[in-house]
Amino acid sequence: MSQTITSTEPATGAVVWTGETGNAAAEVATARAAFQEWAGHSISYRMEALRRFANVVRKKDEEFATLIARETGKPFWESQTEVAAVVNKVDISVTSYAERTPKRTIEAAMGSKVSVRHKPHGVLAVLGPYNFPAHLPNGHIVPALMAGNTVVFKPSEKTPAAGEFLVSCFHQAGIPEGVVRLLIGGPDEGKALAAADIDGLLFTGSARAGLSLHRQFAETPQRILALELGGNNPLVVWQPKDLEAAAAIAVQSAYLTAGQRCTAARRLIVEDGQEKPLLDAIAKLIDRIIVDQPFADPQPFMGPVIDNATADHLQEQWVELMIKGGKPIRRLDRPYEDRPYLTPALIDVTNVRDRPDEEIFGPVLQVIRVKDFDAAIEEANATRYGLAASLVGGSPEMFEKFWSQVRAGVINWNKPTNGAPSTAPFGGVGLSGNHRPSAFYAADYCAYPVTSGQANTARAAVGQGLRDPNMLED
Ligand code: NAD
Repeated sequence: MSQTITSTEPATGAVVWTGETGNAAAEVATARAAFQEWAGHSISYRMEALRRFANVVRKKDEEFATLIARETGKPFWESQTEVAAVVNKVDISVTSYAERTPKRTIEAAMGSKVSVRHKPHGVLAVLGPYNFPAHLPNGHIVPALMAGNTVVFKPSEKTPAAGEFLVSCFHQAGIPEGVVRLLIGGPDEGKALAAADIDGLLFTGSARAGLSLHRQFAETPQRILALELGGNNPLVVWQPKDLEAAAAIAVQSAYLTAGQRCTAARRLIVEDGQEKPLLDAIAKLIDRIIVDQPFADPQPFMGPVIDNATADHLQEQWVELMIKGGKPIRRLDRPYEDRPYLTPALIDVTNVRDRPDEEIFGPVLQVIRVKDFDAAIEEANATRYGLAASLVGGSPEMFEKFWSQVRAGVINWNKPTNGAPSTAPFGGVGLSGNHRPSAFYAADYCAYPVTSGQANTARAAVGQGLRDPNMLED
């Protein structure tokens, strides 16, 4: 039975959208019926259709950014960057398709050849998170469609309006309704979609949900599963030459999008005894951060978190750190009890025993003091996750060591942990994913390679007799 889903503005509590949950099996059946025709079009046809989609979004950028800002609470300026990323995804996917899944022909002896081409999987499900309700699902949908798959997309139950808007842009670009389907719902509909007659599922969200999906997929290895999950990301600041720049990188890493980024720095690792000037500089910046509603003037650096339940949970995680011996440097305050605004928080957790290796998905940065650089690397790796890590300061040799010893899918130097480029692969190790990186490598999981040995005639193939020296690989 369907249920009503209501999405509200985190900033004001006003209703943004109301609708009914959908039926996963019915949406998959519709996408299945559209598959053969869509897959049968040439790649240039599909690229052209997706370019029209980019144009539709470009023309509606203001309207789309306004909706994203209202529904997520993130500042309008940041929502505009999300819409720009949606547009840019098409060109990036064209390049990625050509580079990652090109047609290759290898000439073999005696008029034979080997060709490698790629085929779409069929119907792919896409499950999106709330923090980038357009850009992240779009990062799966565009390459999936380009490769010839049809898609059933379920946005987060917290951001159905942005999801619906995104799907409507595909349809307005002339991409048939059966080719991209919208499924409204929450975790139950996500589970139903995973259980439906799909050929694969492309997921961006929490490790908790990713693990549950992995279990659900355990008996069906023939279906592809791409998991883009969370992180407990370390930012190591070591003997920085420019303290203010290091502090700015820390603030950007930890508090952009109110800390609701998978790549946000959660742990700031510093040299014991040398930390005070850096922490003072960070605290000074924190005190200047504007936390406000998305359309405020001047524009805020960060808005509220997604909803009151999330803010409650973050406050509980904060209290747990305090109870276990964390020393707050800047507290996690909630200026309005009935709204999910939180102030950026900084806490020294060096002496917290049994420090939880959890992703605190909000504006909380935990400081950990260590005795030397080896200990900093050890601490950076003290997590089940492995998404993003940064070193700020140090030397080229130290970065080389950091790069080779830290386990993560994004390892930066003198850059924030977040803001990964879409022109490169993006994914993590450990609990952060299942080795199916997205962004530039999304093309890899949207199609499978087919190798064809071909000869002009059967005679050419058996020309060398039954003992063919080339038949080695299997
Ligand atoms: P979430 O896991 O709660 O939800 C993501 C999606 O999965 C939603 O559509 C939700 O309805 C659905 N869902 C939830 N539980 C499910 C289940 N058991 N089975 C099937 N579907 C289920 O994530 P969220 O809170 O919306 O997003 C924040 C999380 O996403 C953070 O952990 C963050 O780190 C992660 N994230 C990862 C990336 C990345 O690229 N690695 C990017 C952004 C966000």
